[in-house]
Amino acid sequence: MKIFERMMRVPPDCREVADVLQAYLDGELPESKTHVVSEHLQHCERCGIEADVYLEVKRSLGELATPPDRDVMARLRSFADRLTSEGGS
Ligand SMILES: [Zn+2]
Repeated sequence: MKIFERMMRVPPDCREVADVLQAYLDGELPESKTHVVSEHLQHCERCGIEADVYLEVKRSLGELATPPDRDVMARLRSFADRLTSEGGS
């Protein structure tokens, strides 16, 4: 029973890793901590998944951050113009 209870809880290790995971994935973590985290990720599925999710989110945010090309902007603009002119007067 004790083992089961422990499995249901977030181990303190994981909490510590979760705190620095973002910095680790961004490469902003000091080297002394980096290997602790990478070692933990190798044997901890929970944190491994969290790392994957973070990288995925970061990747899609990066894609959004790239500025849309001129065509798209022009289309959005005329769409907005149409909306405002149709609505009023
Ligand atoms: Zn963990």
